Amino acid sequence: MSVYTSFCSTILFPLHEALKKHSTVKVRRQMEQSQWLSPDQLQQLQLKNLKSFLIDVQQHVPYYRQLFAGIQFDPNDLSDLQQLAQLPLLDKPSIRAHLEELKADNAVGLSRFNTGGSSGEPLIFYIGNKRVSHDVAAKWRATRWWGVDIGDPEAVIWGSPIELGSQDKIRLLRDKFLRTHLIPAFEMSDQKLDGFIQDIQHIRPKMLFGYPSALAHIAGHAEKKGIVLNNLGIKVAFVTSERLYDHQRGKIQTIFGCPVANGYGGRDAGFIAHQCPEGGMHITAEDIIVEIVDPEGQPMPSGELGEIVVTHLATRDFPFIRYRTGDMGVLSDKICACGRGLPLLAEVQGRTTDFVVAQNGTVLHGLSLIYVLRDLEGVESFKITQDSLDKTSVQIVRAPSFQQSVAEDRIITEFKKRLGQTVNIVIDYPEFIAKEQSGKFRYVISHVKH
Ligand SMILES: [Zn+2]
Repeated sequence: MSVYTSFCSTILFPLHEALKKHSTVKVRRQMEQSQWLSPDQLQQLQLKNLKSFLIDVQQHVPYYRQLFAGIQFDPNDLSDLQQLAQLPLLDKPSIRAHLEELKADNAVGLSRFNTGGSSGEPLIFYIGNKRVSHDVAAKWRATRWWGVDIGDPEAVIWGSPIELGSQDKIRLLRDKFLRTHLIPAFEMSDQKLDGFIQDIQHIRPKMLFGYPSALAHIAGHAEKKGIVLNNLGIKVAFVTSERLYDHQRGKIQTIFGCPVANGYGGRDAGFIAHQCPEGGMHITAEDIIVEIVDPEGQPMPSGELGEIVVTHLATRDFPFIRYRTGDMGVLSDKICACGRGLPLLAEVQGRTTDFVVAQNGTVLHGLSLIYVLRDLEGVESFKITQDSLDKTSVQIVRAPSFQQSVAEDRIITEFKKRLGQTVNIVIDYPEFIAKEQSGKFRYVISHVKH
């Protein structure tokens, strides 16, 4: 560790957090102990944390005080984690409808956040001080699994102008001291890509952080130009917010010369899980209880695919209790080779963006539709959007060899076979397909051929 990194991680960052009244440093230290607890001990810790969290919420959050009373739920009686399933799921419409009643009457440091962009389902919600400390601590712990500490230079490659807007002056100053360099990669022209690569060469980051698609795209550009980036001393590429495809992992690893650590989480749901060097996707179990539920909201056993629902125990200021992420996943009951007792999320198999639902309710992997398009001649890139159970749109960027009538017949026949005979399939041909931010629509498959 360099002297500067050591200064940052032991003095500067703790001071910054203390000034902001965040308990990040303490939380991270505790987490570094508790990650080695056995799965049973961690469940005991979760139960204890869940109980005090729900008691606190009952006292201070009007929405839940009323809800608990309505279903005669008394958190003081909580003796088993399974009892959490007695509470209803929290979805985005409920948060929208009860935004004010979801705030604790004694909330500390509430900041307003907004996910999503100009279309789809944006969500406004609040994050309090406690949650910030815990989410930052969880990320900090995960970077230390990879030998990277706060203060080590980090290049954040981010694709959303919205996130940039939220960069206030203090944050920019903090980023400067802590050597976090932001690369705004929402525009990926060749000229911009040259600039991003120069920035990365100049920064010589210990860690890259960003969307897998953006990192893979930059890597692909460097490869094309014959630029070597595997000698910069990058220790790890943290990717998040999107599904990580194998070809992206391969490209990032080869070109940047570092392993890729996949993460799963979001501004709304928190720092849910992250990969350790042994490959296990460890859940931040001290703070986050992950359930996998069936379409009726009932918990499913390990090994089965369902929707990921999270309860974030550090959200007493604005609670996320059994929050529907809209993503699909599978829990594992295996123990990771690294020896940490933190439970594992078997690879997030797909966000709902990778699934479609047939008219009869069958959930299909998006690949079943993607393959139809991929096998067609002359398709440059495409995007499939399931607008509703009765309508699916397909956008195709054509190459000269594209045969429109043959292709349309095939798409319509094959899609109806999978989705239902009365589904309306709308096909159009834009000049290009813009990259979506993840999570904007309920069922989107966007797929660009590589
Ligand atoms: Zn592990």
